[in-house]
Amino acid sequence: MIRVEITDKRKQAFCRWLVSRGAELLAPSTAYEIARFRCADGVSVVAATAKGDLYFAGNGYHIWDCYLKGSAWRAFTKNKRKNKKGRSRLMTTVALRDGENCFYCHNPLHEDRSLEHLLSITFGGSNHLANLVLAHRECNEAAGNKSVREKLQIHIDNLGERHGGYH
Ligand SMILES: [Zn+2]
Repeated sequence: MIRVEITDKRKQAFCRWLVSRGAELLAPSTAYEIARFRCADGVSVVAATAKGDLYFAGNGYHIWDCYLKGSAWRAFTKNKRKNKKGRSRLMTTVALRDGENCFYCHNPLHEDRSLEHLLSITFGGSNHLANLVLAHRECNEAAGNKSVREKLQIHIDNLGERHGGYH
């Protein structure tokens, strides 16, 4: 039995986390419920007795555990799938524009292709086509969070090598 002191602050923090992960909060049916919420696999409950013994319904235990561990849990996976589909559509669009070669090494991509953001998302780069190129996963990772200028330089340097050098 897990025993914790459930303060209002803690309840609110858990509820905020649930909402941030896409769960739909429902009205608690007893005063002991810390949170009652709906996610992809139905309704779950995390509750505590007056003594602080936690009990769970639905997928509550697993979700509470994810919360404590800070794991990547999402209430619904629908968006993820949609994103995946959107991503493959973007890749096709970029491939039509740029061809099926890696932006960095210029070798054919085949199955090993990933979307590279010239201006990294972490630097505020967007998913706009103008910011996207295709690259091998490895080449993409090697470029990491380099600046746009450095990335273009890799592109140009390798282009030179490939065509026997323009220097
Ligand atoms: Zn490559």
